[in-house]
Amino acid sequence: MALPYERIYNFSAGPCALPVEVLEEARDQIMNSYGAGMSVMEMSHRSKAYERIIEEAEADLRTLFNIPANYKVLFLQGGATFQFSQIPIVWLAGGTADYVVTGAWGKKALEAAALEGCANKVFDAKDTNYNRVPKWNSLVLSDDANYVHFTSNETIQGVQFQEFPKTKAPLICDMSSDILSRPVNVSDFAVIYAGAQKNMGPAGVTVVIIREDMLEKQKPNLHPSFDYKLFAENGSMYNTPPCWSIYMCGLVYKYLLKNGGIPWIQSVGGQKSKLIYDAIDNSGGFYKGHAEKDCRSPMNITFTLPDEEKSEAFLKGAKALKLDGLKGHRSVGGMRASVYNYFPLEGCQVLAQYMADFAKQG
Ligand SMILES: *Cc1c(COP(=O)(O)O)cnc(C)c1O
Repeated sequence: MALPYERIYNFSAGPCALPVEVLEEARDQIMNSYGAGMSVMEMSHRSKAYERIIEEAEADLRTLFNIPANYKVLFLQGGATFQFSQIPIVWLAGGTADYVVTGAWGKKALEAAALEGCANKVFDAKDTNYNRVPKWNSLVLSDDANYVHFTSNETIQGVQFQEFPKTKAPLICDMSSDILSRPVNVSDFAVIYAGAQKNMGPAGVTVVIIREDMLEKQKPNLHPSFDYKLFAENGSMYNTPPCWSIYMCGLVYKYLLKNGGIPWIQSVGGQKSKLIYDAIDNSGGFYKGHAEKDCRSPMNITFTLPDEEKSEAFLKGAKALKLDGLKGHRSVGGMRASVYNYFPLEGCQVLAQYMADFAKQG
Protein backbone atom coordinates (compact mmCIF):
# COMPACT_ATOMS: atom_id res chain seq x y z
CA MET A 1 0.00 0.00 0.00
CA ALA A 2 2.30 2.76 -1.18
CA LEU A 3 1.09 6.15 -0.12
CA PRO A 4 1.08 8.72 -2.94
CA TYR A 5 3.69 11.51 -2.87
CA GLU A 6 5.54 9.76 -0.02
CA ARG A 7 2.84 10.96 2.34
CA ILE A 8 2.49 9.54 5.84
CA TYR A 9 -0.51 8.60 7.97
CA ASN A 10 -1.37 11.80 9.79
CA PHE A 11 -3.23 11.04 13.03
CA SER A 12 -2.89 14.66 14.17
CA ALA A 13 -5.73 16.10 16.24
CA GLY A 14 -5.79 19.08 13.91
CA PRO A 15 -5.30 20.41 11.31
CA CYS A 16 -6.45 17.19 9.68
CA ALA A 17 -5.47 15.09 6.72
CA LEU A 18 -7.35 16.09 3.55
CA PRO A 19 -8.36 13.91 0.60
CA VAL A 20 -5.53 13.57 -1.91
CA GLU A 21 -7.86 14.29 -4.81
CA VAL A 22 -8.91 17.58 -3.19
CA LEU A 23 -5.28 18.60 -2.75
CA GLU A 24 -4.61 17.63 -6.34
CA GLU A 25 -7.48 19.73 -7.59
CA ALA A 26 -6.21 22.74 -5.62
CA ARG A 27 -2.76 22.13 -7.04
CA ASP A 28 -4.05 21.94 -10.59
CA GLN A 29 -5.96 25.21 -10.17
CA ILE A 30 -3.33 27.16 -8.32
CA MET A 31 -1.83 29.16 -11.19
CA ASN A 32 -5.08 29.92 -12.95
CA SER A 33 -8.28 29.10 -11.12
CA TYR A 34 -11.36 28.58 -13.24
CA GLY A 35 -10.01 30.73 -16.06
CA ALA A 36 -9.66 33.82 -13.87
CA GLY A 37 -5.97 34.12 -14.75
CA MET A 38 -4.93 33.95 -11.10
CA SER A 39 -5.21 31.69 -8.09
CA VAL A 40 -8.03 31.91 -5.57
CA MET A 41 -5.44 33.25 -3.12
CA GLU A 42 -4.97 36.32 -5.29
CA MET A 43 -8.57 36.95 -6.29
CA SER A 44 -10.74 39.83 -5.13
CA HIS A 45 -13.43 38.54 -2.82
CA ARG A 46 -15.79 40.89 -4.68
CA SER A 47 -15.06 39.29 -8.06
CA LYS A 48 -17.64 37.23 -9.96
CA ALA A 49 -15.32 34.21 -9.84
CA TYR A 50 -15.02 34.35 -6.06
CA GLU A 51 -18.69 35.04 -5.54
CA ARG A 52 -19.40 31.79 -7.30
CA ILE A 53 -16.93 29.92 -5.09
CA ILE A 54 -18.45 31.10 -1.81
CA GLU A 55 -22.02 30.68 -3.02
CA GLU A 56 -21.36 27.12 -4.14
CA ALA A 57 -19.59 26.32 -0.88
CA GLU A 58 -22.62 27.49 1.07
CA ALA A 59 -25.09 25.70 -1.19
CA ASP A 60 -23.13 22.44 -1.02
CA LEU A 61 -22.84 22.65 2.75
CA ARG A 62 -26.59 23.26 3.01
CA THR A 63 -27.24 20.16 0.90
CA LEU A 64 -24.74 17.98 2.73
CA PHE A 65 -25.79 18.92 6.25
CA ASN A 66 -29.47 19.38 5.43
CA ILE A 67 -29.60 22.96 6.76
CA PRO A 68 -33.13 24.42 6.83
CA ALA A 69 -33.90 27.70 5.03
CA ASN A 70 -34.42 29.65 8.27
CA TYR A 71 -30.73 29.25 9.16
CA LYS A 72 -27.89 31.50 8.03
CA VAL A 73 -24.55 29.94 7.14
CA LEU A 74 -21.53 32.12 7.88
CA PHE A 75 -17.86 31.62 7.01
CA LEU A 76 -15.91 33.59 9.63
CA GLN A 77 -12.37 34.05 10.92
CA GLY A 78 -10.97 33.55 14.40
CA GLY A 79 -11.49 29.83 14.91
CA ALA A 80 -13.81 28.08 17.32
CA THR A 81 -12.08 30.01 20.09
CA PHE A 82 -13.38 33.29 18.71
CA GLN A 83 -16.85 31.75 18.58
CA PHE A 84 -16.96 30.62 22.18
CA SER A 85 -15.70 34.08 23.12
CA GLN A 86 -18.17 35.93 20.88
CA ILE A 87 -21.23 33.90 21.84
CA PRO A 88 -21.36 35.09 25.49
CA ILE A 89 -20.67 38.68 24.41
CA VAL A 90 -23.63 38.54 22.05
CA TRP A 91 -26.16 36.39 23.90
CA LEU A 92 -25.15 36.09 27.55
CA ALA A 93 -24.62 39.80 28.21
CA GLY A 94 -25.08 39.76 31.96
CA GLY A 95 -27.72 37.01 31.96
CA THR A 96 -27.49 33.29 32.68
CA ALA A 97 -26.41 30.46 30.39
CA ASP A 98 -25.92 26.75 31.06
CA TYR A 99 -22.61 25.08 30.18
CA VAL A 100 -22.09 21.33 29.92
CA VAL A 101 -18.39 20.63 30.47
CA THR A 102 -17.28 17.27 29.09
CA GLY A 103 -13.67 18.17 28.34
CA ALA A 104 -11.03 20.78 27.69
CA TRP A 105 -12.92 22.78 25.06
CA GLY A 106 -16.12 22.99 27.03
CA LYS A 107 -14.10 24.19 29.99
CA LYS A 108 -12.50 26.94 27.93
CA ALA A 109 -15.90 27.98 26.61
CA LEU A 110 -17.24 28.16 30.16
CA GLU A 111 -14.30 30.30 31.29
CA ALA A 112 -14.85 32.71 28.42
CA ALA A 113 -18.56 32.97 29.25
CA ALA A 114 -17.88 33.64 32.94
CA LEU A 115 -16.40 37.00 31.89
CA GLU A 116 -19.75 38.08 30.48
CA GLY A 117 -22.37 36.87 32.93
CA CYS A 118 -23.56 33.93 34.97
CA ALA A 119 -22.08 30.87 33.26
CA ASN A 120 -23.77 28.05 35.08
CA LYS A 121 -21.88 24.76 35.02
CA VAL A 122 -24.58 22.06 34.84
CA PHE A 123 -22.15 19.17 34.37
CA ASP A 124 -18.42 18.67 34.79
CA ALA A 125 -16.67 15.30 34.50
CA LYS A 126 -13.41 16.57 35.93
CA ASP A 127 -13.50 13.99 38.75
CA THR A 128 -13.07 11.17 36.24
CA ASN A 129 -10.70 13.16 33.99
CA TYR A 130 -13.43 13.77 31.41
CA ASN A 131 -13.97 10.20 30.30
CA ARG A 132 -17.76 10.45 29.87
CA VAL A 133 -20.71 12.56 28.86
CA PRO A 134 -23.92 12.83 30.89
CA LYS A 135 -27.38 11.56 30.00
CA TRP A 136 -29.28 14.68 28.98
CA ASN A 137 -32.25 13.85 31.20
CA SER A 138 -29.96 13.75 34.24
CA LEU A 139 -29.11 17.45 33.93
CA VAL A 140 -30.97 20.22 35.72
CA LEU A 141 -31.07 23.17 33.34
CA SER A 142 -31.83 26.75 34.42
CA ASP A 143 -35.30 28.16 33.83
CA ASP A 144 -33.95 31.53 32.79
CA ALA A 145 -30.98 30.47 30.65
CA ASN A 146 -30.32 32.55 27.55
CA TYR A 147 -28.86 29.40 26.00
CA VAL A 148 -27.34 25.97 26.71
CA HIS A 149 -23.81 25.38 25.43
CA PHE A 150 -22.08 22.03 24.92
CA THR A 151 -19.32 20.38 22.87
CA SER A 152 -20.55 17.46 20.77
CA ASN A 153 -17.12 15.81 20.62
CA GLU A 154 -14.29 16.56 23.04
CA THR A 155 -11.18 16.39 20.93
CA ILE A 156 -8.60 16.01 23.68
CA GLN A 157 -10.35 13.40 25.82
CA GLY A 158 -12.11 11.56 22.99
CA VAL A 159 -15.68 11.55 24.28
CA GLN A 160 -18.74 12.19 22.14
CA PHE A 161 -22.44 12.74 22.75
CA GLN A 162 -24.38 10.02 20.96
CA GLU A 163 -27.60 12.00 21.18
CA PHE A 164 -28.75 15.58 21.33
CA PRO A 165 -31.42 17.02 23.59
CA LYS A 166 -34.45 19.15 22.88
CA THR A 167 -33.94 22.09 25.22
CA LYS A 168 -36.28 24.96 26.06
CA ALA A 169 -33.44 27.47 25.91
CA PRO A 170 -31.62 27.88 22.58
CA LEU A 171 -29.10 25.08 22.14
CA ILE A 172 -25.59 26.09 21.08
CA CYS A 173 -23.01 23.50 20.09
CA ASP A 174 -19.29 23.50 19.38
CA MET A 175 -19.14 20.84 16.66
CA SER A 176 -15.54 21.57 15.62
CA SER A 177 -14.27 18.03 15.80
CA ASP A 178 -17.19 15.99 14.50
CA ILE A 179 -19.22 18.16 12.12
CA LEU A 180 -20.13 16.35 8.88
CA SER A 181 -19.21 12.97 10.34
CA ARG A 182 -22.83 11.98 11.09
CA PRO A 183 -26.33 13.25 10.34
CA VAL A 184 -27.59 15.98 12.66
CA ASN A 185 -31.06 17.42 12.97
CA VAL A 186 -30.00 21.04 12.58
CA SER A 187 -33.40 22.35 13.69
CA ASP A 188 -32.72 21.09 17.23
CA PHE A 189 -30.03 23.79 17.47
CA ALA A 190 -30.02 27.57 17.64
CA VAL A 191 -26.34 27.85 16.75
CA ILE A 192 -23.77 25.33 15.56
CA TYR A 193 -20.16 26.40 15.11
CA ALA A 194 -17.08 24.55 13.94
CA GLY A 195 -13.53 25.46 13.05
CA ALA A 196 -12.84 23.92 9.64
CA GLN A 197 -9.51 22.31 10.36
CA LYS A 198 -10.73 19.08 11.99
CA ASN A 199 -13.38 17.76 9.65
CA MET A 200 -13.93 20.21 6.78
CA GLY A 201 -10.75 21.72 5.39
CA PRO A 202 -7.73 23.81 6.32
CA ALA A 203 -7.47 26.16 9.30
CA GLY A 204 -8.56 29.76 8.92
CA VAL A 205 -12.31 29.54 8.53
CA THR A 206 -15.03 28.79 11.04
CA VAL A 207 -18.50 27.77 9.93
CA VAL A 208 -21.37 29.19 11.98
CA ILE A 209 -24.92 28.00 11.38
CA ILE A 210 -27.42 30.35 13.06
CA ARG A 211 -31.18 30.19 13.31
CA GLU A 212 -32.50 33.55 12.13
CA ASP A 213 -34.39 34.46 15.32
CA MET A 214 -31.06 34.43 17.20
CA LEU A 215 -29.95 37.42 15.13
CA GLU A 216 -32.79 39.44 16.66
CA LYS A 217 -31.74 38.40 20.18
CA GLN A 218 -28.27 39.89 19.97
CA LYS A 219 -27.17 42.45 22.51
CA PRO A 220 -27.56 45.93 20.95
CA ASN A 221 -24.64 48.13 19.83
CA LEU A 222 -22.14 45.39 19.17
CA HIS A 223 -18.73 46.14 17.69
CA PRO A 224 -18.79 45.08 14.03
CA SER A 225 -16.54 42.03 14.50
CA PHE A 226 -18.96 40.64 17.09
CA ASP A 227 -22.13 41.33 15.13
CA TYR A 228 -23.47 38.12 13.57
CA LYS A 229 -26.33 39.99 11.96
CA LEU A 230 -23.95 42.33 10.16
CA PHE A 231 -22.01 39.36 8.77
CA ALA A 232 -25.23 37.57 7.81
CA GLU A 233 -26.53 40.65 5.96
CA ASN A 234 -23.26 40.86 4.07
CA GLY A 235 -23.04 37.20 3.07
CA SER A 236 -19.98 36.62 5.33
CA MET A 237 -18.22 39.46 3.50
CA TYR A 238 -18.51 42.47 5.77
CA ASN A 239 -14.74 42.42 5.58
CA THR A 240 -12.40 40.16 3.62
CA PRO A 241 -13.33 36.55 4.33
CA PRO A 242 -10.73 33.77 4.57
CA CYS A 243 -11.00 33.28 0.80
CA TRP A 244 -8.59 30.40 0.35
CA SER A 245 -9.86 28.37 3.30
CA ILE A 246 -13.46 28.74 2.14
CA TYR A 247 -12.42 27.60 -1.34
CA MET A 248 -10.72 24.52 0.12
CA CYS A 249 -13.79 23.68 2.22
CA GLY A 250 -15.87 24.03 -0.91
CA LEU A 251 -13.71 21.44 -2.66
CA VAL A 252 -14.12 19.12 0.34
CA TYR A 253 -17.92 19.55 0.26
CA LYS A 254 -17.96 18.60 -3.42
CA TYR A 255 -15.78 15.59 -2.68
CA LEU A 256 -18.23 14.46 0.02
CA LEU A 257 -21.29 15.00 -2.19
CA LYS A 258 -19.72 13.10 -5.06
CA ASN A 259 -18.99 10.09 -2.87
CA GLY A 260 -22.31 9.75 -1.09
CA GLY A 261 -22.38 12.53 1.50
CA ILE A 262 -22.68 12.02 5.22
CA PRO A 263 -24.13 8.48 5.13
CA TRP A 264 -21.04 7.40 3.20
CA ILE A 265 -18.50 9.17 5.41
CA GLN A 266 -20.25 7.94 8.56
CA SER A 267 -20.10 4.36 7.41
CA VAL A 268 -16.39 4.59 6.52
CA GLY A 269 -15.77 6.40 9.81
CA GLY A 270 -17.47 3.61 11.73
CA GLN A 271 -15.18 1.02 10.15
CA LYS A 272 -12.12 3.14 10.86
CA SER A 273 -12.75 3.70 14.55
CA LYS A 274 -13.93 0.11 15.06
CA LEU A 275 -10.59 -1.23 13.87
CA ILE A 276 -8.77 0.75 16.55
CA TYR A 277 -11.27 0.28 19.37
CA ASP A 278 -11.23 -3.47 18.64
CA ALA A 279 -7.44 -3.41 18.87
CA ILE A 280 -7.79 -1.83 22.31
CA ASP A 281 -10.51 -4.21 23.49
CA ASN A 282 -8.79 -7.33 22.15
CA SER A 283 -5.42 -6.57 23.72
CA GLY A 284 -6.15 -8.38 26.99
CA GLY A 285 -5.91 -5.12 28.91
CA PHE A 286 -2.57 -4.04 27.43
CA TYR A 287 -4.22 -0.95 26.01
CA LYS A 288 -6.79 0.89 28.11
CA GLY A 289 -9.36 3.10 26.44
CA HIS A 290 -9.79 6.45 28.19
CA ALA A 291 -13.46 7.04 27.36
CA GLU A 292 -16.30 4.97 28.79
CA LYS A 293 -17.52 2.63 26.08
CA ASP A 294 -20.86 4.30 25.43
CA CYS A 295 -19.19 7.73 25.08
CA ARG A 296 -16.39 6.75 22.76
CA SER A 297 -15.56 9.21 20.03
CA PRO A 298 -15.20 7.85 16.51
CA MET A 299 -12.98 10.87 15.74
CA ASN A 300 -10.40 10.94 18.55
CA ILE A 301 -9.47 7.56 20.01
CA THR A 302 -7.63 7.91 23.31
CA PHE A 303 -5.84 5.04 25.04
CA THR A 304 -2.95 4.39 27.36
CA LEU A 305 -0.23 1.74 27.54
CA PRO A 306 1.10 0.06 30.71
CA ASP A 307 3.87 2.62 31.28
CA GLU A 308 5.82 5.56 29.90
CA GLU A 309 8.61 3.39 28.55
CA LYS A 310 6.19 1.29 26.51
CA SER A 311 4.51 4.44 25.23
CA GLU A 312 7.80 5.77 23.95
CA ALA A 313 8.70 2.48 22.29
CA PHE A 314 5.23 2.39 20.74
CA LEU A 315 5.65 5.85 19.22
CA LYS A 316 9.06 4.97 17.87
CA GLY A 317 7.80 1.82 16.17
CA ALA A 318 4.79 3.71 14.83
CA LYS A 319 6.99 6.29 13.21
CA ALA A 320 8.86 3.59 11.30
CA LEU A 321 5.49 2.55 9.83
CA LYS A 322 4.68 6.17 8.86
CA LEU A 323 2.07 6.40 11.61
CA ASP A 324 2.45 9.99 12.76
CA GLY A 325 0.89 12.25 15.38
CA LEU A 326 -0.21 9.55 17.84
CA LYS A 327 1.15 11.05 21.05
CA GLY A 328 -1.72 11.81 23.39
CA HIS A 329 -2.39 15.16 25.01
CA ARG A 330 -0.50 15.49 28.32
CA SER A 331 -3.78 15.74 30.26
CA VAL A 332 -4.74 12.18 29.26
CA GLY A 333 -1.34 10.68 28.45
CA GLY A 334 -0.78 7.64 26.25
CA MET A 335 -1.98 7.84 22.67
CA ARG A 336 -4.59 9.68 20.70
CA ALA A 337 -5.44 8.50 17.21
CA SER A 338 -7.44 11.20 15.48
CA VAL A 339 -9.19 9.68 12.50
CA TYR A 340 -11.22 12.55 11.07
CA ASN A 341 -13.35 12.29 7.96
CA TYR A 342 -10.56 12.19 5.38
CA PHE A 343 -8.04 10.08 7.23
CA PRO A 344 -7.64 6.95 5.07
CA LEU A 345 -9.10 3.62 6.19
CA GLU A 346 -5.80 1.86 5.36
CA GLY A 347 -4.06 3.96 7.99
CA CYS A 348 -6.40 2.49 10.61
CA GLN A 349 -5.72 -1.04 9.34
CA VAL A 350 -1.98 -0.45 9.63
CA LEU A 351 -2.33 1.01 13.13
CA ALA A 352 -4.64 -1.81 14.35
CA GLN A 353 -2.20 -4.45 13.09
CA TYR A 354 0.72 -2.62 14.70
CA MET A 355 -1.17 -2.38 17.99
CA ALA A 356 -1.81 -6.13 17.97
CA ASP A 357 1.81 -6.93 17.14
CA PHE A 358 3.16 -4.53 19.75
CA ALA A 359 0.89 -5.87 22.50
CA LYS A 360 1.94 -9.47 21.67
CA GLN A 361 5.56 -8.57 22.30
CA GLY A 362 4.33 -7.44 25.73
C1 LIG B 1 -9.84 22.45 17.96
C2 LIG B 1 -11.05 22.78 18.72
C3 LIG B 1 -11.33 24.08 19.17
C4 LIG B 1 -10.38 25.23 18.93
O1 LIG B 1 -10.40 25.62 17.60
P1 LIG B 1 -9.55 26.87 17.11
O2 LIG B 1 -9.99 26.97 15.68
O3 LIG B 1 -8.11 26.53 17.28
O4 LIG B 1 -9.95 28.05 17.92
C5 LIG B 1 -12.50 24.29 19.86
N1 LIG B 1 -13.36 23.29 20.11
C6 LIG B 1 -13.13 22.04 19.71
C7 LIG B 1 -14.13 20.97 20.00
C8 LIG B 1 -11.97 21.74 19.00
O5 LIG B 1 -11.74 20.47 18.59
